[in-house]
Order: sequence, then C-alpha cells, then structure tokens
Amino acid sequence: MTHNTELFARAQGVIPGGVNSPVRAFRSVGGTPPFITSGAGARIRDADGKSYIDYVGSWGPLILGHADPDTVRTVQQAAARGLSFGAPTAGEIELAELLTRLVPSMEMVRLVSSGTEATMSAIRLARGHTGRDTLIKFEGCYHGHSDSLLVKAGSGMLTFGNPSSAGVPADLARHTLVLGYNDVGALREAFARSGDTIAGVIIEPVAGNMNLVAPAPDFLATLRELCTRHGAVLIFDEVMTGFRVGLTSAQGLYGITPDLSTFGKVVGGGLPLGAFGGRREIMEKVAPLGPVYQAGTLSGNPLSVAAGLTTLKKVQAAGFYEALADTARRFTEGLCAAAQRHGIPFSAQAVGGMFGLYFAATPPRNYAEVMAMDVVAFNRFFHAMLEAGVYLAPSAFEAGFVSAAHTPADIEATLAAADKAFSMLAK
Ligand SMILES: *Cc1c(COP(=O)(O)O)cnc(C)c1O
Repeated sequence: MTHNTELFARAQGVIPGGVNSPVRAFRSVGGTPPFITSGAGARIRDADGKSYIDYVGSWGPLILGHADPDTVRTVQQAAARGLSFGAPTAGEIELAELLTRLVPSMEMVRLVSSGTEATMSAIRLARGHTGRDTLIKFEGCYHGHSDSLLVKAGSGMLTFGNPSSAGVPADLARHTLVLGYNDVGALREAFARSGDTIAGVIIEPVAGNMNLVAPAPDFLATLRELCTRHGAVLIFDEVMTGFRVGLTSAQGLYGITPDLSTFGKVVGGGLPLGAFGGRREIMEKVAPLGPVYQAGTLSGNPLSVAAGLTTLKKVQAAGFYEALADTARRFTEGLCAAAQRHGIPFSAQAVGGMFGLYFAATPPRNYAEVMAMDVVAFNRFFHAMLEAGVYLAPSAFEAGFVSAAHTPADIEATLAAADKAFSMLAK
C-alpha cells in the first residue's frame, strides 16, 4: 500500500468521503487522491514523494504559486503579532481601500472568511435593499453552498427552482429562478414576466464551475440593462474571476458595472478570506449602519488580510497579467495542437489565468453543452497526466488555473506529457 492509499483509508473512517470538500475525493475520475505534503512554486509533492506540476492552485487562490516567499513572510510576521483580535485593525482598511481602488464599482466593501459567505451576504443584501425575494441564477454556475443558491432548474425553464441538495427547503428554492447561461431570450422573458419581483441576479461573469464557459457577446450587457430597468441588483460573483482574469477582474475585462460584487480565492492569497462590496447606497444597508445583518468572528483576520494584501500588491506589477495570460494561452494552444496531431476531438480556451479543457470539438456555451462532453476520454486523459506528474482538476466539470510560478519549461514538460496521453487515447 502506498502512503496515499493508507491515508485515504484512514481519512474515510473519520471524514465523510475522506475529504473536507467533495470534489477532492476523486469520485468523478475514480482512484485515490494524492495527499499533499508540500508545495513550492508551480509544484506540489504528495505523501509518496511524487512531484506534480499543479494546475489546480488550491482551486484558484494561488496566483503566485505555492508558498510564495513574500506572502509566507508577511503572514509569519502577522502571526507573530497576534492571530486574531475580533477588533478592527489598520490592515483591514488598507485591504478595503485597495479593493475599492482596483474595483471602482465597489465604493464600500466588507471582508468575510469565504466565497460562500460573500455570496450569501450579497444576496441577503440584494433582498434587503429591494424588499423583494426572487433571485435569478444561471444553470451550471456555482456560488457557494448557502441554501438559496443550491438550487437547480425546475421542470420548465421559467418555473421556479428545486433544491439541488438534500436539506434545502423547497419553500426557499422556490424563490430562486434558474435560467440557462448565455440565453438572452430566457432572460428577457423572465424579466418581462416578473421583473418587479426580482431582487437580484447573481452570475459568474465567466463561468468556472461547469468547466469554463465564456459569456456570449451581449449576454452580460443585456443583463445589466434589464437589472437597471427593473430595479434589480446585479451581483457579479467574481470569487473565481476576481484578480484571476485580469487586474480589473471580469467586470473590467467586459466593461460591465455590477451593483454588488463578491470576491474570494485570489483576494485571500491562499488563506480564508472573501469580500463583498458595491454601491455605497446599497452597502450602507449592512449592519451596523443598516438593517441587513451580517457578521463574523474571524472576519478580516489579520493573517488572511496580510496574505491578501501581499498578493494584491504583487499582481499589480507591470506585465503580470500579460505574462499570466501568455502562459495560459501557450498551455491551451499547445494542448489543442497535440490533440489534433492524434486526431482527438478536443478544444481549450483561456481567459486570463484560468482555462477550460473540453473533450468536444468546440468550447461549450452552456450547461447542456458541458454535460454533452466526453467524460470517459477526460478521465483517461486525467489519469495519464497524473501518472506523468501533471495535476489537473479531478473532474471534467472544473476550470483550471496557471500561476505566475509556471515557467515555459513547466508548460513544455506538461505538453510533452499531454502528447503521450493523447496518443494513448487515439489507440
Ligand atoms: C469557489 C467559489 C465560491 C465559493 O467560495 P468558497 O470560498 O469555496 O466558499 C463561490 N462562487 C464562485 C464563483 C466560486 O468559484
């Protein structure tokens, strides 16, 4: 038995599925997840001493790579001054000022401890601000695991949602309408029917939780226009895209100004931190200024703030995002070329430092197209790459990430492994 299999067996005795977040369990691809002992730069090492080039990056946060020395140092210095106070600190102001400067749509911001908390709080605020209950979300988008957001489409596209998890009251799911991503017609129809009851719309401006689905031209602009016309709060969930697709996040990239935004992942630099913010008039409804309650014992934790500040300072370096996008582009273009050499139906695309890999001839535009991809081919490819020392997300339905630590040599090594994996698939 390897150390990984021993650890996985032990973990399953005391942790549901052996993991603290479901996709880590490798259920989608099968097999035993490696237990990670350390990481540095673009690489991680597992309990059996095997090294991998990592394209998961802790599911997005590690834009500087693993154990970035500057981040580690500032976190150590913060830790030495005290782990938590539950009282205000100057670092929180510094991070809030930086966030409001980098994301001009956020005039005020509140720090929380996860992406889930950020989105949950943002939808409560949208409802509290408008005095309306109905929320629109899009099929295949993930916004964390709070009750109102664990909802899938009802039987008809314009019927209200059903819980997508046991334990979510149907009564609550009924307040969430689930529409197709990139479906401008359904969006217009939903607003025409019930625009005056819609509190808000929450969307991943680039969907990254159903593999990667890019927004169609006009989709986000139509959404903005309809929300404005009907007085609904537009929430961009930038937990994944924030400081990942570019320094101005997806809202800057596509030139759309949301009313509220949520952040997580990169903003915490690898430590637990999220944020939600937006127009002052809306944010002033948050307690203690206003009637919308929101709180957190560890919110604005000094270690998380230190990691976030260091990360957000470093990504502002000249050429940072150009280099990151270049790395992602070299990776996806190289993969497409390798697949083509072996006659495998495959496509890939990158938006800034995130990418999608598809066992389908063209990138998907919505959830149905994502679900139609060849999962069996992905799973074989995944295991061949893992064996060769390349750690991809263990599911065909996740986006992937590159970091500033991925060198041209890392990409070359990955593409050489991919060439072999595609040739195996062609047989
Ligand atoms: C990861 C993610 C979340 C949830 O964030 P957690 O920190 O895991 O709670 C919410 N929205 C999007 C778009 C995400 O990618």
